[in-house]
Amino acid sequence: PLVLGIETSCDETGVGIVRGHTLLADAVASSVDEHARFGGVVPEVASRAHLEAMVPTIQRALKEAGVSAKDLDGIAVTAGPGLAGALLVGVSAAKAYAYALGKPLYGVNHLASHICVDQLEHGALPEPTMALLVSGGHSSLLLAPDITSDVRPLGSTIDDAAGEAFDKVARVLNLGFPGGPVIDRYAREGDPEAIRFPRGLTGPRDPLYDFSFSGLKTAVARWIEAKRAAGETVPVADVAASFQEAVVDVLTRKAVRACKDHGVDHLMIGGGVAANTRLRAMAERRCEDAGITLRVPRPKLCTDNGAMVAALGAEMVARGRAASSWDLPADSSLPVTEPHVPGTHDHAHS
Ligand code: ATP
Ligand code: MG
Ligand code: FE
Repeated sequence: PLVLGIETSCDETGVGIVRGHTLLADAVASSVDEHARFGGVVPEVASRAHLEAMVPTIQRALKEAGVSAKDLDGIAVTAGPGLAGALLVGVSAAKAYAYALGKPLYGVNHLASHICVDQLEHGALPEPTMALLVSGGHSSLLLAPDITSDVRPLGSTIDDAAGEAFDKVARVLNLGFPGGPVIDRYAREGDPEAIRFPRGLTGPRDPLYDFSFSGLKTAVARWIEAKRAAGETVPVADVAASFQEAVVDVLTRKAVRACKDHGVDHLMIGGGVAANTRLRAMAERRCEDAGITLRVPRPKLCTDNGAMVAALGAEMVARGRAASSWDLPADSSLPVTEPHVPGTHDHAHS
């Protein structure tokens, strides 16, 4: 199926077009520069930027894909989770286009999309899929027997998300926002073993698949404060590398453990933090040692984009899932267990 996907859950206006597992277009307009001076995403600024970018980004995607809107089999949109106002812009645009073109509308889950996008890279996901989802707002280990209808959390962060930890540590180091890509870059020049930062929830009595990154963030902040108080220069590259090593060590250790415990022979890693070069390298090595096939999309498909939404929408069409009703709501706290949002009326259109 030929599906157009719209993503506006945060600060990226993404429009992607796929045909089944084939990526045809991936147009992204980001308002990240407008937020940088505030040190985080400002919801009102994001909503306005989505509104301005929406129509041009849809047109750019159609042109890039070389397809006509009338040939689409459906329009998919992120229904949640995310910023309420930002989501509303995408959902409204998707409804308008779907209604005007006479196409079915599919409200999908942003988190399931971060996983499903890998079908564009490595073909059909195995079932069940074991996924490590690591992004700005979420960090979870998920077992998905069917990415369109059945996603089960094995464990999640009990405090900060992995991406949030990157952003907060970058702020303490005065490296700007968003922190992930900058820390990734600095870490390449640093020694990951220079400082031994704590690995949260890895004790013998700790939950196996849950994460905790807030203690790590505090430990890094304290370490930096002590250096500054002593009048010493902060070795930014070593701090970045050592912090990143602690995050990546825990993520990969628990993910491999989950695969082994559940007899799953592959691991999918998705979400913005999956773009991290050290995470990709360590996962590669640990999966290989454990006989697990690693599936990580190219970095551009790991951070927010419209192609991931289109990929999940195409899977909905292929599996004959019901289209969403025209009163599809934007749900800022849509749970990961609901990959597909049929809408609030039972008379979904076809
Ligand atoms: P969610 O998907 O949970 O709703 P989000 O959409 O804001 O959150 P994503 O766009 O998926 O999050 O990911 C953004 C996060 O990924 C940010 O926290 C950013 O710092 C982090 N990130 C991006 N690139 C890298 C990288 N190379 N290394 C580490 N973290 C990264
Ligand atoms: Mg973003
Ligand atoms: Fe995301």
